[in-house]
Amino acid sequence: MQKDRSCCPDSVMRASLPVSILTAMKQRMTDTESQDPDKLIEGYRRFRKSGWNPHRERWKELRDGQQPDLMIIACSDSRVDPSQIFDVAPGEMFVVRNVAALVPPFETSPGHHGVSAALEFAVQVLKVKEIMVMGHGMCGGCKVALTRELHGTVPGEGGFIADWIGLLDEARDPIANEMGTVGRNAERAMELAAVQVSLDNLRTFPCIRRKLKDGELRLRGSFFAISDGALHIMDDESGAFAPVR
Ligand SMILES: [Zn+2]
Repeated sequence: MQKDRSCCPDSVMRASLPVSILTAMKQRMTDTESQDPDKLIEGYRRFRKSGWNPHRERWKELRDGQQPDLMIIACSDSRVDPSQIFDVAPGEMFVVRNVAALVPPFETSPGHHGVSAALEFAVQVLKVKEIMVMGHGMCGGCKVALTRELHGTVPGEGGFIADWIGLLDEARDPIANEMGTVGRNAERAMELAAVQVSLDNLRTFPCIRRKLKDGELRLRGSFFAISDGALHIMDDESGAFAPVR
């Protein structure tokens, strides 16, 4: 039986989304169709065997609470899982993932501020000592920020993405003027600039500013290049990214 995979009629989505987004959707649907429906359950069984059973004591401790020292903000992209890249154990890293690893500025306007809620919890309750923003190569969100191909679409048909990555508009304009809106050079510049935007926006939160001033919190920028699996760390002073040796 054919399952309905979308909240919107397919014809409506196809009529309004740009070709590149449609191609990505098509690829996703093909992947979903070919996926073994028990893949998740099989993965869970492997986890029980190798990730849970040998570490029962650790899981017992975690039952009483979490005390991660690090918060990481990363992209939702399926290729850049922070726990995998940093090889951390459960309980060590508080993670927020969203399109393009963005942090909005401190805002008190009506709405549902998911990233701000997570930041508040991490900084004020968990008292993390470091927040790392991790951008990545071949980021679809940054690419669309650069091309503005979803500009003017309505919510549910690209509008939510367009609105979200509008957080990059200010950083995008000089890049587009200097390097154009297509090609890896411009895309990479946008991906690196997005990390800086999120770091700048983190500093607009009063609780973060206060903790930075008191030396209780550190902010770091990083970038994961998918093609060679290399992590780059941003220099606080120069803003330049250098690969980790
Ligand atoms: Zn991304």
